[in-house]
Amino acid sequence: MIVRTRFAPSPTGFLHIGGARTALFSWAFAKKHGGTFILRIEDTDVARSTPEAVQAILDGMQWLGLDYDEGPFYQMQRMDRYKQVIQTMLDAGSAYYCYSSKEELDALREQQMANKKKPRYEGKWRPEAGKVLPAVPKDVPPVIRFKNPQDGVVAWDDMVKGRIEISNSELDDLIIARADGTPTYNFCVVVDDSDMGITQVIRGDDHVNNTPRQINLLKALAEIDSTIIVPQYAHLSMILGNDGQKLSKRHGAVSVMQYDEDGYLPEAVINYLARLGWSHGDEEVFSKQQFAEWFDLDHITPSAAQFNTEKLNWLNNHYIKAANLEVLAKDITQRLGRMGIAIATQPAIKEAIALYRDRANTLNELAQSIAYFYSKPQIDEVAKEKHITADILPVLNTLATQLVSIDWTVEAIHAAIEYAVTSNALKFPKVAMPLRVMLTGGAQSPSIDAVMAILGKDEVLARMNMTLN
Ligand code: GLU
Repeated sequence: MIVRTRFAPSPTGFLHIGGARTALFSWAFAKKHGGTFILRIEDTDVARSTPEAVQAILDGMQWLGLDYDEGPFYQMQRMDRYKQVIQTMLDAGSAYYCYSSKEELDALREQQMANKKKPRYEGKWRPEAGKVLPAVPKDVPPVIRFKNPQDGVVAWDDMVKGRIEISNSELDDLIIARADGTPTYNFCVVVDDSDMGITQVIRGDDHVNNTPRQINLLKALAEIDSTIIVPQYAHLSMILGNDGQKLSKRHGAVSVMQYDEDGYLPEAVINYLARLGWSHGDEEVFSKQQFAEWFDLDHITPSAAQFNTEKLNWLNNHYIKAANLEVLAKDITQRLGRMGIAIATQPAIKEAIALYRDRANTLNELAQSIAYFYSKPQIDEVAKEKHITADILPVLNTLATQLVSIDWTVEAIHAAIEYAVTSNALKFPKVAMPLRVMLTGGAQSPSIDAVMAILGKDEVLARMNMTLN
């Protein structure tokens, strides 16, 4: 069987982390089996769907590198097809017109609740052999209902959750078309999944309740067209925040594109999402391609996965360290630009990045940490008071004078600092720390001679003199 999977987001907001993981798993399953991955936009909720949200989904997929083989298909463009299938079902007797008015159904529901019964449509208009249906009222536009089987169970072997069985007596006759003729949600999903030949439906477990209805609908369609199959289902558990609560905005970024803005690399986000509820031995760091080779539905944990920002940061740091310097330089230049810092050709940004990338968890952190190379730093007053003490000023002044005439190499700079240290019987930090404060603004930096080499002689002397004079 040729594998065909789909990601079917509703464009009612941005592409969030949970959706992205569903997309990634569906993508990987198709890739692993040499199959086809389809993008379908479920935009029938016209009140809540927006073109901006569609764009956000497309942007998010592109940023993550989740390329689809077919689509995007839009449900709103398939209305004629849904109506056609509804007609086929009416003709086959697996769907029927229901003329019960809203008032009638409300009264029925109240009565059932008063009798402590589960509210359900009682089947007044459901055609049965030998049953005489009521006279059709003139003023009630009918809905169309699916003739759900009344006996037995509907069951499936969920590829994540195991066997799930629902008694058909729990399900009433689902409305598949509203009185205005528009098809309803579960129906559209079913027609699409069958038309698109979907073999595995991989989606969030908030859809478990829809599955028995969808399977019954698919089985009814398969009776009309024997080529229609019921796909396999894999329902992924939800993602919880760091604190074990349902992931939401208060946990920080939930939109995929927000991760881009916050300075995460797509490789890191993909790698992180892949491990969110799935594992391959002890493997933690792997590419999207490697994931697609390893991915299977047997190693998905049925319990909820917990988001862990520290782990994402650790992965992001790994990918920042491994990134192509040229690509990184381009990205960091843009981020500095957004911070209002223009990059001069000197100091070379690649050298600055190389000096700092090992300690950056995000690209934004990296941009911030090298910003002082390109704009005068804000001096940390506490650090200044602590390290630039009166007794060290003469040493720093002498050092500044010596720096004027040396070759501007890390070695020569180091030798000059070393000389200032030893000839005054000091310890290295006594000189290095005030230099850090004067040159970078704070007391933390990589090796100060390397910083100075990149910063350039003129700028080093200018910053030293600013503090010393
Ligand atoms: N449109 C649904 C959602 O965004 C997904 C439907 C499905 O995957 O079957 O939650």
